[in-house]
Order: sequence, then structure tokens, then C-alpha cells
Amino acid sequence: MLKTIEHKVDLCIIGGGLAGMGAAVEAAKHGIKTLLMHERPVLGGNASSEIRMWICGGWGYMETGLPEELRQENIFRNPNGNYSVWDLLLYEKLRFQENLTLLLNCSCMDAEMDGNSIKAVKGWQLTTQEFHRVEAKLFADCSGDSILAPLTGANFRWGREGKSEFGESMAPEHEDSCTMGMSCLMQAREMSERQDFKPPWWSNRYPDDSALENRYHQMGPLQNFWFLELGGEGNTIADTEKLRDELLKTAIGVWDHIKNHGEHEAENWALDWIGFLPGKRESRRYEGDYIMTQDDVLSGRNFPDCVAYGGWPVDDHYPAGFLHKGEPNTHVYPDKPYGIPLRSLYSNNVENLFFAGRNISVSHMALSSTRVMATCMLLGQAVGSAAVSCVRYNVSPREAAQKYIGEIRQRLMEDDCTLPGFIRKRPDLTLQAALTVSNGTDGEVLRSGLERGEGNFWTAQNGDWAEYDFGSKAQVNEIRVIFDTDLERTGAVGRNLPAAYALNMPAKAVSDKIIAGFSIFADGREIYRTDEQHLRCFRLPVNILASKIRLQINRTRGTKGNIFAFDVNGRK
Ligand SMILES: Cc1cc2nc3c(=O)[nH]c(=O)nc-3n(C[C@H](O)[C@H](O)[C@H](O)COP(=O)(O)OP(=O)(O)OC[C@H]3O[C@@H](n4cnc5c(N)ncnc54)[C@H](O)[C@@H]3O)c2cc1C
Repeated sequence: MLKTIEHKVDLCIIGGGLAGMGAAVEAAKHGIKTLLMHERPVLGGNASSEIRMWICGGWGYMETGLPEELRQENIFRNPNGNYSVWDLLLYEKLRFQENLTLLLNCSCMDAEMDGNSIKAVKGWQLTTQEFHRVEAKLFADCSGDSILAPLTGANFRWGREGKSEFGESMAPEHEDSCTMGMSCLMQAREMSERQDFKPPWWSNRYPDDSALENRYHQMGPLQNFWFLELGGEGNTIADTEKLRDELLKTAIGVWDHIKNHGEHEAENWALDWIGFLPGKRESRRYEGDYIMTQDDVLSGRNFPDCVAYGGWPVDDHYPAGFLHKGEPNTHVYPDKPYGIPLRSLYSNNVENLFFAGRNISVSHMALSSTRVMATCMLLGQAVGSAAVSCVRYNVSPREAAQKYIGEIRQRLMEDDCTLPGFIRKRPDLTLQAALTVSNGTDGEVLRSGLERGEGNFWTAQNGDWAEYDFGSKAQVNEIRVIFDTDLERTGAVGRNLPAAYALNMPAKAVSDKIIAGFSIFADGREIYRTDEQHLRCFRLPVNILASKIRLQINRTRGTKGNIFAFDVNGRK
């Protein structure tokens, strides 16, 4: 008889793509007992070494929070862009997170209901031949394919809405069951001499460019083969195994075309890797209390219960994908970053079910923008933060959205998530203290609450300092600093792992604007020192009595560095 392992937690998350990871880290770090069940051996979903897609997000308005933390950590520790180092980094982030149980190689395949709430889910762990049964107060489906929808009866949608349903000008005239397709990607590596390629007998053949019109297929460092897409006219769940076969035939056929049919600047390039696990763009989308639409995205709308934002264009792919004649997709940019409401992140009929990722409550047209992975990770963080309030006050996701939205948002902003239109409340201890900076500039920007953008930072050189004087001893609980990582410096392309490995590719480095070495002093005594700062957000929990807290800059990477925020939390 096979064994069943029992678990009891506050929040159970299904799926460890970037959305599930965001939810897991945010919830666990704020003290609620969390479990993540993920069916693959590596984390990151479409961003993992198994699929290798770039993490994109708000165009010209880079995400902060966890996406920026992981990107910076990766540039710092993985300057040559190795996918195994990236996998290890994601593994480390979750495996050693306090309050988090990580079940890898464990596929959720059953759920038990108690009225309109989920009582428990069950997963099958491939490596141990064990079942895991997880009872939880709250569940978050971050599986992309929304596995908990068929298992719990949660309402969901599939396919494209007709124009009239939400007044979407870019939607098809009539609703249909088409979606965007899935892809098996390839990566190539440039070598110092000619590389030959012999295609297997079973791959497709593209002897001329006729099948590849409007599909840019020259070889170069930015070639990631995203256009190898099939399956949007069928069923992107049920057809996956059949589509993998077609995608491999297509991908290898395209590589044969690039190498052996025509001039594609590919003479010295070799096939380095091909994905056997199709990366998915779209399948089931849950219905929440609010369904976001094309207009919400393109007008840059915000919401009173905004908990995340997006900014990728409405980028709708034709369902036939690679087989579609003409341009493969649309590209219409939003006016400005748009808000995403918490009401789109929980089920409208299953009481304790959150979701985050590409399966949130959006129309097909809105999904074509919200689906990118940095946005998905922010959605995960938002769900994690909302779950903390649900557990703290013993309320449902809907009640949390109605009653505790301020607290949910404040926690996210403290964790360095930008929320357009919202300013983080600074601690009273910081606002009431006398602030002095050593270099005669205006230090007030350090407590303005504006934590990104030109003009919102204090510029410092080696030896400069900023100090809060509380007038008398105060209980100090936390010191928080936001450094300038030069958010828009290299855009998503430069912050991601390589699409293709060009010969003599320069190693990446974090920006010169990030201060590398600094100390924290309490009443003249050094209580913290580092020479390796490379992240934007620094938070130091302490438990001390002090009348003055000083931040002193010891080493800049360039001639100077920038700081957006410095505050001290505690009480007099
Ligand atoms: C070819 C391609 C190109 C793309 N291009 C980009 C791009 O350039 N930039 C960008 O940001 N986005 C891109 N996207 C979109 C983006 O990758 C997805 O929308 C995004 O990955 C969705 O994130 P997610 O966390 O919801 O899902 P996923 O990344 O799919 O993660 C969900 C995880 O849940 C796991 N899971 C599923 N079912 C279960 C279960 N029953 N039990 C346990 N675990 C389960 C899955 O194995 C998966 O790892 C692209 C997508 C594709 C396919």
C-alpha cells in the first residue's frame, strides 16, 4: 500500500512558477505556515531551465519587489547567464525559506471540499511514490493550467470573448474556444569554427522561406524562437503530449532551415539545447469578483483595491501560431502602467481560493498583457500578502479585499513592491526625527516615500552619511534602505539570462549606481556592516534602544551612488 503523508498549513500553493514562488516567499516571510506543491524538479515555470523564457513585465517601468531581487541576485552571482546557476538560486530562495515546506516533483491531482471551501488537496510525488495530503485554511492556484478549477468546481473561462461582451475593440467578432498556443524553445551557442547540423529523419523540412515569412529567424544573441508556437486552435491542456511531438518536429525543422537552407548568419552556431516540456501561454482563466478587460489595460486604469501592476502591451498571438500566415501577434502599448485589483485574484464561488499567474480573472485580451512573468510574480506577492491578512484576522479573501486592503498594500510596499499611485506610509519614528546628511544636500528625499525615478534619490560618496536623531532613546525595531539598482538601465533583455550564447559574450555586472559598502551605527556604535550590497531593498530587524541611527557609505561602485529611502521603524 502506498503511503500518504499528512500536512496542515495556513496556505497551500499549487505550482512553483514565478507566481507561486512570489506567493510562497511573501506569505512565509510574514510568518504564516505555507506549503508549495510543485510538479517539476526545478522552480520557475516558464523561466526555469526546462523552458527558458525571458522574464518580462512593465515596458519602461521595471518591477521592483521580488522580481528585481532575483534579477539582481542573478546578475551578481551568475554573470555569465548559466541556467543551472539560476535554477540553484531559485531553489535556494525557497528551500531555505523559514515557514515554507517545499514539495518538489509533486503533482496536485485531487481536492476535498467542505461546502464552498477547499478542505484539502492531494498530490502524487513521483520520486518517493508517496501521496501528500495538505489541509489548509487557504489555497492559491498558481499552476498556470488552473488544476483546482476542475477539481473544486471553481468558475473559469476558456477561449476568446466576443467583441461585445466587454466592449473590446481588439477581440474577435464572436466568442470562440481559441487560445494562444504553446512552444518548445531552442537555444544555440556560437563557436569559434563552423558547425554542421544533420536533421533527424522525422523532423519537418522547410527548404525555403515560405513557411517562415514574418518570423524573424536570423541567428544572433537575441534569437529566442518564441514564434515556434502551436496548439491555440485545439486544447492547450489535453493536446499537450501530441503538441510536444509537433513542436519538436517544427523546431528542429526550423533549425535545419537556419543551418542548411539560405543565409542566416548561423555558420558557427550549434544547437545547444531544446525544450521537451512545452511552455504554455494560455488555458483556463478563473473568474474572480472582477474580470479585467482590454480597456483596463490600455487606459492604464487603477483600482481602489490595486495590489500589483502590469505594463506589457496587449500582445495577442494568433491561435494558429507558427501556421498563421502574416504577423504572429499584436502589439498595442498601454498609456501607462495599469493597476491589478485584488478582486481579480480570488474565486467568485470557492471561498478560500486565491490564484496568481496567467490564470487570473481577466478577459483573453487583458491576459495577453498580464501574462508576462514579472507581472505574474507581483501577483503572487500580492496573494501572499493578502493571505497573511486572511490568516491574521480569520477572514476570506473577499473580506480581506474589503477590510484590510490598506494593510495588504502597505506590507507589499514595505517589501519594495511599487504600486503606481500609492505611496508607502513611513514610520512615525522616521518622520518625527531630525534628519542630517553629511554632504549639505537635501536629505528629505530619503523619507519622501518616492522610491524610484529621477530626482527622488540622495546621492552619496564614500564617507557620506545620513542620520536620524530622535532626541532621546527610542526602541528601534527595523532599519530599511532602498538603493538605486538603475532599474531601467538594461531593460528586461539585459537583466535576463541569454536567449542565445554568442561567442565572447561579455559578462554582466550590477550597476555602478548601487552602493557596495555601508555601515549602520546606533549612537556611534557600528551594528551592521557589509561590503557586498547588490540588491535594492535592505531590511535589518533589530531590537535596540538608541537616540541616533546613522547610515554611512563606505564604498561606492562608481564615483558615487544613490539611495531612495532610509527609514527607521520603532517607537519612542
Ligand atoms: C514560448 C513562450 C514565450 C513567452 N514569452 C514570454 C516572455 O518573453 N516574457 C514573459 O515574461 N513571459 C513570456 N511568456 C508568458 C509566461 O511565460 C507565462 O504567462 C507565465 O509563465 C505564467 O506564469 P505562471 O507562474 O502562471 O505559470 P508557469 O510559469 O507555467 O508556472 C506554473 C507551474 O505550475 C506547475 N504545475 C502545473 N500543474 C501543477 C500541478 N497539478 N501540481 C503542481 N504543480 C503544477 C507547472 O509545472 C509550472 O511549472 C511566454 C510564454 C511562452 C510559452
